[in-house]
Amino acid sequence: MTSATEPDTWDWKQLQDTDRKVIWHPYSSASGNLDAYPVVSASGVRLKLADGRELIDGMASWWCAIHGYNHPVMNRALEEQLGQMSHVMFGGLTHPPAVKLASILVDLTPASLNRVFFSDSGSVAVEVAMKMALQYWHAQDKPQKQKLVALRQGYHGDTFGAMSLCDPVTGMHHLFGDVLPKHYFAPAPECAFDEPCSDADIKAMADLLEAHHQEIAAVIVEPIVQGAGGMRFYSPEYLVKLRALCDAFDTLLIFDEIATGFGRTGKLFAMEHAAVEPDILCLGKSLTGGYMTLAATMCNSRVADGISNKGVGAFMHGPTFMGNPLACSAALASTELLISLPWQRTVQRINAALKLGLEPARELPGVVEVRTLGAIGVIELEQAVDMRKIQPMFVERGVWIRPFGKLVYTMPPFIMNDEDIATLCAAMVDVLATLG
Ligand code: PMP
Repeated sequence: MTSATEPDTWDWKQLQDTDRKVIWHPYSSASGNLDAYPVVSASGVRLKLADGRELIDGMASWWCAIHGYNHPVMNRALEEQLGQMSHVMFGGLTHPPAVKLASILVDLTPASLNRVFFSDSGSVAVEVAMKMALQYWHAQDKPQKQKLVALRQGYHGDTFGAMSLCDPVTGMHHLFGDVLPKHYFAPAPECAFDEPCSDADIKAMADLLEAHHQEIAAVIVEPIVQGAGGMRFYSPEYLVKLRALCDAFDTLLIFDEIATGFGRTGKLFAMEHAAVEPDILCLGKSLTGGYMTLAATMCNSRVADGISNKGVGAFMHGPTFMGNPLACSAALASTELLISLPWQRTVQRINAALKLGLEPARELPGVVEVRTLGAIGVIELEQAVDMRKIQPMFVERGVWIRPFGKLVYTMPPFIMNDEDIATLCAAMVDVLATLG
């Protein structure tokens, strides 16, 4: 075996064969039948494979690489921070990247959200939100309020608490159902993004809250876009009605904007489509432009003071890499870069290019729906795709698309030009047409 200190001498076969033996990839079996594509560098919107081929990245590395790869502004911020301090514990210490980042997040989110708790992944940001909600009610002498309500077809992460909020039937975690905490689930909103939401659309949620509010701490939803659970877009009015219900039944409202935050839906945060403010907000993914792993749970004074001024006071959570300075400086640079750009126009341009490019898919057999929102394009199929068959077909066409189940979708980096979006969409249409 070649020395691990000389990874660039490893060719495609060595990388792929060794990977197959020693690495366990996400959502996959370790039985050695996964042919992961070795990627050796990435720049702009292109991933360079070990054999020299380049792929246009239609996934933004699972929503996060909004500025693409190898961006000079991002690189410079990280290099400068590396020269200062790569990591320091956050217990009892603080540092400029964390303070500046928290300030900008407080400025950019609704005025009521004024506290930031950092963690290292989206799933953990959700765990933190759950703990905040439970501890809040404990401190209010209502310890019986311990249950959450989540939406069917929702997805909130892979850790135990987060798994307990994913759809227990259609979701990927049902195997653990017996040992997961039991929460309530309301039907996913049926009202589409551009449709009104009637009282009937939210009746099941209202009934649930009415019947069980004494034990319900919080409702958690992905605002506007239900991502990994189905790439569904729903009406902003649903959120307006949901906020009113939470207020009526004295229940906290948590928004999981881990996927939707930072411009993806055409607003800086998806909740802005509805002008609704949650009590707790989870951020992650494109928070750092995909450069580092960082997440944040924000909350309002009601939650922060409610926990801090009563009961045990301290919030008992503190990951080792909390507020990592490299990650915070990446997030600060990414966020400052985003808001310095005409990103709304960019997302509108991407939306128009996706609409145009995916239009021919409507005519294909087996296509249920083609939908776009902001910089997200989705083709929903009648049948689930065979990943082992479909993935190489995309790579042959020079694009990186990673479908799941019945969904073939893209959320490109915001820097992708119209020509590359057209290539991406043409590949999606062509692959589905070839599959028949
Ligand atoms: N919530 C949502 C809405 C997500 O899309 C994801 C990631 N797909 C998570 C939570 C979990 O984030 P992470 O993968 O960083 O743990």
